[in-house]
Parts: sequence; structure tokens; C-alpha cells
Amino acid sequence: MRWGLAGVLLSNGVMSPDATPEARQTTMYESIVAAIVEHRLAPGTRLREERLADLFAVSRTQVRPVLQRLEHEGLVERQPRRGAMVSAPSREATKEIFAARRLVEPFLVQAVCAHCDRTAVRRLARIVKDESRARDANDRRAMVRLSGDFHRELAALAGNEPLAKLMAGLTVRTCLAILANRASVGSTCREDEHERILAAIAAGDGTAASRLMVQHLQHIERSLDEPAPPMPDDDLATLVPPSEPKKTIRNRGASPPPKASTTRTPARKLLGKTP
Ligand SMILES: [Zn+2]
Repeated sequence: MRWGLAGVLLSNGVMSPDATPEARQTTMYESIVAAIVEHRLAPGTRLREERLADLFAVSRTQVRPVLQRLEHEGLVERQPRRGAMVSAPSREATKEIFAARRLVEPFLVQAVCAHCDRTAVRRLARIVKDESRARDANDRRAMVRLSGDFHRELAALAGNEPLAKLMAGLTVRTCLAILANRASVGSTCREDEHERILAAIAAGDGTAASRLMVQHLQHIERSLDEPAPPMPDDDLATLVPPSEPKKTIRNRGASPPPKASTTRTPARKLLGKTP
């Protein structure tokens, strides 16, 4: 019986009862990416084909291409005897992700400044405003998602499609890098830094915007602690927003829960906590 979580998906309006297998695969892909972006899915979480097939009401054969796509994008890795799992970027891989962003994003903000119009500023300002609102409401999930949105929107506004695609992948991998390298996750972007970047863009000052972006990325990278081994949380029910009713099935054979001294916090719990 697959009705439990499929029903939740249905009530969220993301999947109709007569959704095609392809539509279900798309939903699965988007749900996994959204769960990573919102810090609901921890690095190291095993992505069992059977469980995913059950959650999204597809066959295991249909799960495989989705996992392959995620693996190709660096969001999933395979390990002997453990199979597919959410990537846990090492310290070295994290450095590479930030090095790539430091190269790309100053160029992107300069490009936005070069052909900036009111619409662009308005779109960015809306995100910054929503971020501020989410921060006031202590809505961690929204804060994390919106901070990524700011960077993705900038990339989209720069008008360079290959770089926008690259940035979409880099921002999701940054979420994993932050989770894999930090014991507890605060806001990924400092409070007023998006606002300052936006002010420079609105003033058409590409040099300042570019400098502020480099500083912003350095601040995020420096805030990462030394890596701790990720604590896999094998409950894929985290793919469904926690506010919705769900059936929780723990995998008894999974890694043991953390000891009291372990600083790692399961992603499933992160959202319920406030910093
Ligand atoms: Zn940021």
C-alpha cells in the first residue's frame, strides 16, 4: 500500500493521481534537491531504491535514472556496500566549490550591474525582503532556501545560461558542504551582506558589488569548521516537509544514533531548532 506518503504529495498539489512515471521521476528529483536545499536531508543519507520507489509510487527501475542524474550533478555518491547516498563533500571538495564560486559570482554581479534595470533590482529586493521576514520569524527553512535563491536569481539575471546552470548546481552543493562541515547550521549568508550587494547593484557599481561578493563568499567559507563525519539519517520521510502528516519508518539496520557528546545534528531535527 503506497497511499501514505503519496497522499501527502497529493495534498501538497505536487502530484496528481494520474501523474505519468516521468512526472513522478521529476517530482522525485525536485523533492530530493529541495530537501537538500532546505537542509532536510543530511549528507550521507542513504538513498535506497526501494524506499524511494515506495515514496514516489514508481518502480525501482524508474528510480535509477533519477539517482544517476543526481550523481552526475555531484549531489549523490556511491560507496561500496552502502550504495547511493547524499554526497558529503570533504574539506577539499568544499574548498573547490567555494573556489569555483569565487571565480564565477564576481563576474555574474558585474554582468548584472552592466545591464541592470528596475525589474532586476525589484526581483532581488523581494528576495532580500523575504529573507529579512524569514529571519524575524526564525523560519530556518525559508532562510536557507532564500539565501540560495538570492544567488540563483543573480545568476539568472546575469543573462548567461551556462553559468546560471553551473550556479544552480554549485548552490545546492554548497548546502551539502555546509552541512557536512559544520556541527550546527546557522544562516548560510550573513544578515546584511545580500542587502549591501543589492545596494551596490542598484547603484550600478560593479566594482563594489564584485568586491562585496568575494568578501561574502569568504565569510561563508571561513565560518565552516573542520569536518566531522556526517551522521546519516536514513529516514527518507524527510523528503516530505515535516509539517505534513507522515509515516515514519526507521531503518533499524542503519548507523547507530549519535552519542550525547556527538555534535552532529540530524538534518531532520535541524529545522525544528532555532539557533
Ligand atoms: Zn549569500
